[in-house]
Amino acid sequence: MTGSELPEELRLLQRSVREFVETRLQPREYLIEDRDEIPRELLDEVAAMGLFGIGYPERYGGSGFGQLGYCVAVEQLARANASLWNVIGGSVGLCGMTIQLGGPDELRARYLPALVTGKKIGAYALSEPGAGSDAGALHTTARRDGDRYVLDGAKTFITNAPIADVFAVFATVDREAGAKGITGFVVERDTAGLEVGPSDAKMGLHGSTTAQLFFREAAVPADQRIGEEGKGFELALRTLDHGRLGLAAHAVGAAQRLLEASISYAKGRTQFGRPIAANQGVQWPLADAATEIHAARLMVYDAAARLDHGERVTERAAMAKLFATEMLGRVADTAVQVHGGMGYMKELWIERAYRDARIYRIYEGTSEIQRVVIAAALLADG
Ligand SMILES: Cc1cc2nc3c(=O)[nH]c(=O)nc-3n(C[C@H](O)[C@H](O)[C@H](O)COP(=O)(O)OP(=O)(O)OC[C@H]3O[C@@H](n4cnc5c(N)ncnc54)[C@H](O)[C@@H]3O)c2cc1C
Repeated sequence: MTGSELPEELRLLQRSVREFVETRLQPREYLIEDRDEIPRELLDEVAAMGLFGIGYPERYGGSGFGQLGYCVAVEQLARANASLWNVIGGSVGLCGMTIQLGGPDELRARYLPALVTGKKIGAYALSEPGAGSDAGALHTTARRDGDRYVLDGAKTFITNAPIADVFAVFATVDREAGAKGITGFVVERDTAGLEVGPSDAKMGLHGSTTAQLFFREAAVPADQRIGEEGKGFELALRTLDHGRLGLAAHAVGAAQRLLEASISYAKGRTQFGRPIAANQGVQWPLADAATEIHAARLMVYDAAARLDHGERVTERAAMAKLFATEMLGRVADTAVQVHGGMGYMKELWIERAYRDARIYRIYEGTSEIQRVVIAAALLADG
């Protein structure tokens, strides 16, 4: 399924998000980069456009477009500063999705309406200083104490932590049980014993903040538990199936914008008395980029449509994330090269997109971990 074969309602969604991005978001993308901050009124505008709730059911305030609609919208959002979608992805793609998938219904009703409409911002706290790729080895503990759990430990690199109102936090109720002790909790920002560290200084994604979380005897009501005790790791991974598809969709959109800019520059820039686009040495990387973007888009749409039909897509989401994010790295490199010295200058957004592209191969599972996931599926018995 390519863009032109999408159902009419998704093509309308695609057009309206594209127009919003071009008229409202692109003019302010330098401001976000320079201030390393997204103005709250801009997030409010994004929320009013319904962009936090594209994939969520209408009963929670979403638009009910499902995962395919979410990916179609994210692809267009990727034509603006990457940090904008990163905030949305951390909030609803990961935090909200953990609550949506894990339940129970009371918790969904308590938190999803505010997250899905962008009134509250969420964060997803799985990674720890000693448990990144091996997230199942996390150390944060949750000790049951009557009608509450008491959390102790630390989380690292948590997107949205400096601005989040609620956190989906994974901790173990039984360290001996390994990954089978991991349990999810919704923790509110003003919980006593929760401290948010200062914002991390990063290579790119300026405007999207990350920080550490510290839990010291932080008491969380027992009814804030997401799903069953010991089912948290499975839930974290199921959530990442959705998250990785969103990331892959973002990579497709970001690469498409870089390709379009490169084509336009190659046609307009003259050297040796003709446009640089007249050289095969410039044409071929553009042809490769277009081919890879097309392939990545098909992978994303296919996996998203399957997810909407209730299929488990762990392997396909890992493949889409692996291919699309590595593809973006190559296309961003091509874009800088085609733009020559201008590609290295802050005057153009290309150098920012090049830096921003680097993170995609690291978070929500590195490229190596996607290969581990794919190989495990290939080599599984039966
Ligand atoms: C900007 C940013 C935002 C983030 N946001 C969040 C967030 O919101 N929530 C959250 O929970 N986490 C978040 N993270 C954490 C992110 O998911 C981890 O950084 C990532 O999973 C890698 O873990 P690590 O950094 O500990 O690297 P490590 O696990 O230490 O890996 C280091 C290197 O070793 C390789 N490696 C490790 N194990 C294997 C293996 N078995 N086979 C082959 N290679 C291997 C890795 O691929 C990598 O190249 C974020 C990180 C960043 C940088």
